[in-house]
Amino acid sequence: MSIIEPDQGISRKNVVVGNAPQPMEASLLQMELEAHGIESIQDGEFTVAVDPLLSNAIGGVRVLVAAADEAAAREVLAEFYRKRREDEAALEFTCPACGEEEALPVERSPVFWMMMVLSLGVLALIPWDRYKCPKCGHRWR
Ligand SMILES: [Zn+2]
Repeated sequence: MSIIEPDQGISRKNVVVGNAPQPMEASLLQMELEAHGIESIQDGEFTVAVDPLLSNAIGGVRVLVAAADEAAAREVLAEFYRKRREDEAALEFTCPACGEEEALPVERSPVFWMMMVLSLGVLALIPWDRYKCPKCGHRWR
């Protein structure tokens, strides 16, 4: 599906399928779409480059595709974001000391918290280690 070039103006037939705070991020989305054979263009990239503070105000850089590609494009991007969330979640459970990927959240009983608050007061509110590596015993947040 071919679409109108940006310098010819954004066609009314193009639809926004993605938003990114930075042109780099928008390019990532475009690459993902291209890998699935979907042509796309960016809108707003120049404003963002000139004034990054304006980026949020105008909704960042928009990624547009031809209306006929909208459904397919949305599917591709949904999958892209789903994978990325999975990657981030996996990283959270990876031990920074040995690389073990099956780290477990450290569970503490309500009694533990009660004792901590009673004995330490506000100090008990400091963030405690959230994960523990079953392999090397390393703990981290
Ligand atoms: Zn470890």
